[in-house]
Amino acid sequence: MTVQRETLEADVLIVGAGPAGLACALHLANLIKKHDESAGASGGPALSAENIYVLEKGREVGAHQLSGAIMNPKGLAELVPDFEKSAPLDTPVTDDAALFFTKGSSFRFPITPPPFKNKGNYVVSLNRLTKWLGGLVEKTGVNLFTQFGGAQLIYDRDGIAGVITEDKGVDKNGKPKDNFTPGYELRAKVTVLAEGPRGSLTKQLVQKKKLDNINPQIYSIGVKELWDVQPGRIQPGYVAHTLGWPVPTDMYGGGWIYGLANNRLSIGLVIGLEYSDPQFDPHETFQIWKTHPFLRKILEGGKLVRYGAKTIPAGGWYSMPRPYVDGGLIIGDSASFLDSQRLKGIHMAMKSGMLAAETIFEALKAGDTSAAKLSAFQKKVEDSYIKKELRLVRNFHQSFQYGLLGGLFHAGLQFVTGGRGLVDPMRVRPGHEHYHKNGHPPRPRFKGDGRLTFDRLTDVYHSGTRHEEDQPCHLIVHDLNVCATRCTVEYGNPCQYFCPAAVYEPVQEKDGFKLKINAANCVHCKTCDIADPYQIIDWVVPEGGGGPNYEGM
Ligand SMILES: Cc1cc2nc3c(=O)[nH]c(=O)nc-3n(C[C@H](O)[C@H](O)[C@H](O)COP(=O)(O)OP(=O)(O)OC[C@H]3O[C@@H](n4cnc5c(N)ncnc54)[C@H](O)[C@@H]3O)c2cc1C
Repeated sequence: MTVQRETLEADVLIVGAGPAGLACALHLANLIKKHDESAGASGGPALSAENIYVLEKGREVGAHQLSGAIMNPKGLAELVPDFEKSAPLDTPVTDDAALFFTKGSSFRFPITPPPFKNKGNYVVSLNRLTKWLGGLVEKTGVNLFTQFGGAQLIYDRDGIAGVITEDKGVDKNGKPKDNFTPGYELRAKVTVLAEGPRGSLTKQLVQKKKLDNINPQIYSIGVKELWDVQPGRIQPGYVAHTLGWPVPTDMYGGGWIYGLANNRLSIGLVIGLEYSDPQFDPHETFQIWKTHPFLRKILEGGKLVRYGAKTIPAGGWYSMPRPYVDGGLIIGDSASFLDSQRLKGIHMAMKSGMLAAETIFEALKAGDTSAAKLSAFQKKVEDSYIKKELRLVRNFHQSFQYGLLGGLFHAGLQFVTGGRGLVDPMRVRPGHEHYHKNGHPPRPRFKGDGRLTFDRLTDVYHSGTRHEEDQPCHLIVHDLNVCATRCTVEYGNPCQYFCPAAVYEPVQEKDGFKLKINAANCVHCKTCDIADPYQIIDWVVPEGGGGPNYEGM
């Protein structure tokens, strides 16, 4: 289908309205305002916040934001100095426990290990925080377009010059419907990729321009539920992290329990996506974790409010791609700016957005948006607390490829040697290379009791996920034959276990095995793109506005 597209030109195009993209837009708009107020005294061309575009695929800002979340406020304090007056912070952390679970009991570490200390931080809903931040961005005149996904990169020089947004109104066979609207060609002097973990455009750019670091990016998945519990069961600001049961000891994983205001509770389990058992099911393990007596006591009589899942970039400093090309920058989770030991990325996402804004501001004034000019961003990152924090945990997640005990041993040594440990840099293979082959007959699926534990479809219902059903499948499996033949024999179709939203469903039909793809269930976590053993699944943006609705998450 040949399509006539409308072209729009901007100075700066930011793809993704998470903490990174919004911080970049807000800081850049503020810098431009100051520059204009001083009548451009610092020289260079006239700039305007209206020439900054932000794209967000969610139905509104925050709709695709899922996090724990405990926020270290230092990023926000720099971005919005009086943030405490109006930001929806929910509650300050009041207690931070580290717990070890066995099947029937729990043990609180007498001294909370430093990575689990959270005094001075806030428990927040990232959904609400980004909505608020989005409002501040819009007030500056920046054009924020929700329900638009960046579908393709426009390549130019040795880099990028914008994106094409997804076509709307295309049926499942790729034919235009009555409401067909072609995607826009959005061209910009600088395009900022702020897509979060496993960005679909970032993945293409990193591959095409060979931007990978010495380690490939590695990931965890976080499965989360928000509950309203009986009064008195949880104190606002109570924070606990759990290790141990039911996560197998050869894997990386642990849980969180965060008390919000008004008897609301955030709970979740993080699992490293480098396990060897292709039938391991993160959603099921999370459900089983909730049956621990410690959690059962808190949750009993309560009500599930929201569900969701999302991946986390865990590779840190040695997985950071080169974050600049001609006309382009990569920021936030897409650039690996997350401390996987502390599970903290919000403040670094914001800081990286601000550093990108400062780099772009200088580049626009100089009329030079080449990679050489934009490389100043990397230098700024290296001079900032982002590098300082990430260097201290540069070998952390990699250590757990040797199991929990090996991981704790290495992590302890790294702690006393400023991140160095025994091996520096510690190399890793991509997570999907860890599966053991053969001998995986299908096993029964977890059903849940409907009160404390839930099957995946019930949970997906609570994610508020909605997609236009009549559209091309946005989960592109490049060779379905491999699924029906090799994958069934070699790995037992792990997609049916690792997907936390019941998207992949093997079915036996008259003419044999088929992999049914329930794309409308997709919560945009990107696990399939990461964990497929043959790397033949490409997650691409669906029609804008589709996906979860993480209200309050
Ligand atoms: C389970 C879990 C728990 C966590 N807990 C914590 C915590 O307690 N504390 C902490 O500090 N950090 C935590 N993090 C990490 C933190 O949430 C991230 O580091 C942070 O959100 C990264 O911000 P970002 O803007 O880079 O990406 P994101 O927050 O992922 O935002 C990216 C945005 O871009 C949009 N987008 C993506 N691709 C496109 C496209 N092609 N076109 C248009 N829009 C697009 C997405 O819809 C999304 O809104 C957690 C993460 C997870 C998953």
